[in-house]
Amino acid sequence: MTSTADPEEVPYGEVVGFLRDLIRIDTSNPVKPERPAAEYVAEKLAEAGLEPRIFESEPGRASVVARIEGSDPSADALLLHGHLDVVPADPADWTFDPFAAEVRDGMVWGRGAVDMKDMDAMMLAVTRRMLREGRKPRRDVVLAFLADEEAGGNHGAKFLAKEHPDLFDGVSEAVSEVGGYSYEVSPELRFYLIETAQKGLAWMRLQARGQAGHGSMINDDNAVTALAEAVARIGRHDWPVTLTPTVTTFLTEVTEALGVDFDPKDPASARAAVAKIGPLARFIGATLQHTANPTKLEAGYKVNVIPERAFAEIDGRFLPGLEQEYFAELDKLLGPDVTREFSHYDIALEAPFEVPLVEKMMASLQAEDPAARIVPYCLSAGTDNKTFGVMDMGRGVIRGYGFVPLKLDPSLDFAAMFHGVDERVPLDALEFGSKVLDRFLTVA
Ligand SMILES: [Zn+2]
Repeated sequence: MTSTADPEEVPYGEVVGFLRDLIRIDTSNPVKPERPAAEYVAEKLAEAGLEPRIFESEPGRASVVARIEGSDPSADALLLHGHLDVVPADPADWTFDPFAAEVRDGMVWGRGAVDMKDMDAMMLAVTRRMLREGRKPRRDVVLAFLADEEAGGNHGAKFLAKEHPDLFDGVSEAVSEVGGYSYEVSPELRFYLIETAQKGLAWMRLQARGQAGHGSMINDDNAVTALAEAVARIGRHDWPVTLTPTVTTFLTEVTEALGVDFDPKDPASARAAVAKIGPLARFIGATLQHTANPTKLEAGYKVNVIPERAFAEIDGRFLPGLEQEYFAELDKLLGPDVTREFSHYDIALEAPFEVPLVEKMMASLQAEDPAARIVPYCLSAGTDNKTFGVMDMGRGVIRGYGFVPLKLDPSLDFAAMFHGVDERVPLDALEFGSKVLDRFLTVA
């Protein structure tokens, strides 16, 4: 399969060309605005007979939204969203130019190949094919191609949610990135990880205030000392293992399939189990517990001057459903002399796993890969699903899932592809993903 494949001959032949074109439109965030990519996407949607709309939070920061009418008017709408921006890439580190979209070794290479212009391209190729063939998805599908996900979404998802919530009328569930890819245990067993939960995010700025003075004097109210003690307590804290429903299900399924001991009632067995599940551990290791990592320190301007104030920054991530406990513990660690404020905060999410939507993901995957076994997992980072996860469009808050179906060769270190050097995606995975996504949208 090549980018020049005739879409009439190869069912989803357009997907590779779309991905390559999108990679070549540099949308590095920050610096390169999304507008040219948004115009490209809008043109492809309009060609298929849709009426895409481009929304800008400020000049250049563009998102595209289009709605496809479903065959079942009584059904809730489904939001299918991808982001158009990418993180920057330094060409000096790469085997090929990260914005050239080279095809080598059966893969498309370039920034955004897995995060997440691959999904953007599949969304385009699949919906265009469905419309070309006169087929409809079951539900109304809101297609959203968003700006600014990599910097928190203020110019993309958050802007649309605030200024144009009507775009999401009737939506009850959302599907987007960082889930759906395979982990091959054997040719007879392939796990597909569906993201059903996300840790919350708390970037905090700590401040200690004390008595300023000359460095030669006795000072028992030194802000630097107080801050350093609090930072050390936080950094050294051993957060206990706490199993959320998603992580419990993940570990139960995976350990059973791999023959590893795990007792859901014994959190200590979870750490031992994770140590025995191989590369899968990388996806879920940080989701057994809260984390709070000191990342920045700032105080003083001269060696013989005790400053009045000292600052530190903490990257905190809390488990869904356990936010209050997290901050209560954190405040104990801070002690009375140090205050905290958020520089950035975002919610944790946990969506139900045993729902029709996930069953349909499963059925769509198994139709294309009989060895597929679906497991839920909790993402230790975040996606635009957090933004939609607080919107209630009359059907309860929008429940978000990560499902970008890709069947991958076990030799590819897929977790390293996200924001990584030599990011790349196999051509046959794009073809597979398009087939699964088509089946999924038809029944979802
Ligand atoms: Zn992403």
